[in-house]
Amino acid sequence: LVERMRPFGTTIFTEMSALAVRTGAVNLGQGFPDTDGPAEMLAAAAEALASGANQYPPLAGIPALRTAIAAHEQRFWGLGRDPDAEVAVTAGATEAIAATILALCEAGDEVVCFEPYYDSYAASITLAGAVRRPVTLRPGPTGRYEFDEGELRAAFGPRTRLVLLNTPHNPTGKVFTRAELTLIAELCQQHDAYAVTDEVYEHLVFSDAAETHIPLAGLPGMRERTLRISSAGKTFSCTGWKVGWATGPARLVSAMLRVKQFLTFVNASPLQPAVAVALGLPDSYFTGFTAGLQERRDRLVSGLTDAGLTVLPSEGTYFVTVDIRPLGGTDGIEFCRWLPERCGVVAVPTQVFYDHQDAGRHLIRFAFCKRAEVIDEAVRRLKTLN
Ligand code: PMP
Ligand code: GLN
Repeated sequence: LVERMRPFGTTIFTEMSALAVRTGAVNLGQGFPDTDGPAEMLAAAAEALASGANQYPPLAGIPALRTAIAAHEQRFWGLGRDPDAEVAVTAGATEAIAATILALCEAGDEVVCFEPYYDSYAASITLAGAVRRPVTLRPGPTGRYEFDEGELRAAFGPRTRLVLLNTPHNPTGKVFTRAELTLIAELCQQHDAYAVTDEVYEHLVFSDAAETHIPLAGLPGMRERTLRISSAGKTFSCTGWKVGWATGPARLVSAMLRVKQFLTFVNASPLQPAVAVALGLPDSYFTGFTAGLQERRDRLVSGLTDAGLTVLPSEGTYFVTVDIRPLGGTDGIEFCRWLPERCGVVAVPTQVFYDHQDAGRHLIRFAFCKRAEVIDEAVRRLKTLN
């Protein structure tokens, strides 16, 4: 194994899901739903599979899917895209993120990101030989995660190549506000940096969030320098399909594709027409999806609170974070390894998503993208902690 990949062990998701299987614990660790996505989408996939859509699709994705991605972005976010030049399909958001960083960063270039960050960010930045410049999100007076403006300004410098932004944010459930995004946009322009946005939870902002989801690409001056990434996995409850996409100015999309063609080339040909169908579902699908997850969030949050845990507010995503100190815990990794043995529940320590691990040592993450009875059973078990 090359030197630079040695610090990356087994991902925490693999470790914790294996622990759940071994101990028979309720798995609120890895974020995947335990129910299927829309029936129309599943039927379209079965039909495509049976009708011969089983060979290599075009590099950028089938035209029907690229058109559907552009139409979806116009419908929800008002971003008009040319499906032929400004949209590309990828093997999940993960490949889009990796291919973009590999395509844009020279060795030694710096990537500004926010910690805790989704674990593939650090690995992709390292694979490119680039350097991460993390800005720490910390719970503020209301429990909402915030960053320090001075810290963000200081993270930008002459080697900054791009900022990698995830909103709605995994694992904190933070939804970046317009004021926060405006500052990020100003700094990108001041330093002539690109922005790469991971918006896989774009449809998971709850009704009590301070603001709705705002794509950075829509802010003044940002369209020309932003590559927006999303995926079908979360919005249509099909995390195993790995159908993602990137949209943005033609030169950024084509740079990403230059690398992507040598990673996977293409993927998921019978699933691509099905995702096109899903993206075209009526608004009621999307509002119902958001409301369903919000109900599950509320169910888990009230259960965790009843069980004596200190829950930090989550405005979006599949996730909520908890401070373990009131339970006498100090180290999230130790706590999450002990929890399944002690009471049969798996969570994920968020400290593994920080460079400055002290900032997240006492925080763990629970996923609520599960059936109500699964959440209830987890809560019943957690109550035995007291
Ligand atoms: N970004 C974030 C923030 C995520 O939580 C995930 C995980 N599911 C991904 C990217 C990966 O998405 P995909 O499965 O489409 O590669
Ligand atoms: N995105 C999911 C999570 O944060 C898991 C992705 C993975 O297993 N790599 O839980």
